[in-house]
Amino acid sequence: MSNTPPLKSYNILPGPIMGLITPEYLESVAAAVRKHDIPLLKITSAQRLAIGGHGPEAAADIWRALGFPDGPKKPAGVHYIQACPGSRWCKYGQLDSLELGCKLDKAVKDVALPAKTKFGLSGCGMNCCESYIRDVGLFGKKKGWTLIFGGNGGGRPRVGDVIARDLTDDQAVELTRACLNFYAAKAKSRERSARFMERIGVEVFKRAVLREGADIRLGGSV
Ligand code: SF4
Repeated sequence: MSNTPPLKSYNILPGPIMGLITPEYLESVAAAVRKHDIPLLKITSAQRLAIGGHGPEAAADIWRALGFPDGPKKPAGVHYIQACPGSRWCKYGQLDSLELGCKLDKAVKDVALPAKTKFGLSGCGMNCCESYIRDVGLFGKKKGWTLIFGGNGGGRPRVGDVIARDLTDDQAVELTRACLNFYAAKAKSRERSARFMERIGVEVFKRAVLREGADIRLGGSV
């Protein structure tokens, strides 16, 4: 990487999902960074790689080189899924957050949403992936997943609302889809989930999304 101060403003974030990387991915990134003499290569707080300080031609070429010929995803939808190592790799883990993240990625990545939507999945109650302050948060306990909706860690932070507890993987995926569908149907354009929940209220939200899941336990407010 060059030490030259950046003069160009493009900054791309080509994943990877949940921060999972392979040697091949790293080699592709290294080749692209060298090819375009990229001045900024950074791991973000959301477990993604930021490649910055270049122009539009380099951006398009790097997206292609990393397997995304169409460039960044549009329109607004699931922005990213961040997940901790979970029970497979962390001694404190109660449930497998990486496995759930893969299931959720398949189930919700193409859902059109009113605004960017961030996921934080944590394998236990220590919540290393900040599940209470993500639009969708899940954390594991012995009895199952707790699902939280409407958190935000930005300029107007909000602790999300607990929607349900003790969920299996399948229930967590199903309920997440129900939450996103309701949010997509009722939110204003560009209304983040935190503002949406403040406007609509957690009880209305829970009644709507839990209507179909009689076996899903209602969660209390935080
Ligand atoms: S949330 Fe729990 S399982 Fe995940 S990394 Fe932190 S301590 Fe480990």
